[in-house]
Amino acid sequence: MQDQNKNTNTNVPQALPPRTTAPGRMNRAFLTVDLEEWYHLDYLKGFRCRESGVRVLPQIFDFLDMLDEEGVKVTFFCVGEIADENAGILREIVRRGHALGCHGLDHELLTNKSLEQFVDETRRAKAMIETAAGREITGYRASCFTMERDKLDATRQLGFAYDSSKIRFAQHPLYRNLDLSGFEQAEDLVYVKDDFTEYEIPTLDIMGYSIPISGGGYLRLFPFWLLRILLGIYARRHENFTIYVHPFELTDVPLPLPKGLGKATAFRCLVGRRGNLKKLRKVIRWLKKRGARFITLEADRRERGLR
Ligand SMILES: [Zn+2]
Repeated sequence: MQDQNKNTNTNVPQALPPRTTAPGRMNRAFLTVDLEEWYHLDYLKGFRCRESGVRVLPQIFDFLDMLDEEGVKVTFFCVGEIADENAGILREIVRRGHALGCHGLDHELLTNKSLEQFVDETRRAKAMIETAAGREITGYRASCFTMERDKLDATRQLGFAYDSSKIRFAQHPLYRNLDLSGFEQAEDLVYVKDDFTEYEIPTLDIMGYSIPISGGGYLRLFPFWLLRILLGIYARRHENFTIYVHPFELTDVPLPLPKGLGKATAFRCLVGRRGNLKKLRKVIRWLKKRGARFITLEADRRERGLR
């Protein structure tokens, strides 16, 4: 847990609970999916991608089948505005025993919204997802991890029991270090205040740079041999791991990217999509071999005696 010991921010609980596994061995693994369409990517804001009619969510069944084969249960966070058109998929996710939460109403950054707007939209998004899925939801993840403390407190008032938006990634302007003062660290990556839980998305500090090995473009960009080395370093410092992926990364359906996007951004959107599902399966097996137990965030809370 050297990463956390090196942390100098005062808004993070400093008392670290003892590690329960030997260095190099893993304890819990949380696989999470931001259930959004490809056109929700922040780079694509301002383009009219949605009108292309191309959708990636209907391709999610290959991923769901892989999870069944590996015996892995995951936590999905759905964008409210696409819940109704994907109601069948949401119900299938619930039927297969996965957890379902909310990823905002429209995937706009929380930092661009007032608290009042956030409260109104989150209430609506929760109701839309619950109607589509046919069950209550209690988890939240902010778009691009842009959670802020006043909004975190508001999610609790709105009936949410857990959030997973905290990431430490100093070099990226979008990712803030969420203020968790008043929370206690229950375990690696897990923070609790009263009966509310925050689950951190880890990064790996190497030479002063935070590498987000837990998901997004880096998971697609890095070949598995490199990921294996980085995960090995990670497992010596941490015992829990959170992975985050998106539906567009789990299929190689062609995406009609807008012409004005720029080559570097197009590369970031497209790199490593082909074969990424296979690579993810390898990561899952690597973690399992080191003792990781994949559970949903809801199941993790139940094991801690929380509702
Ligand atoms: Zn997202």
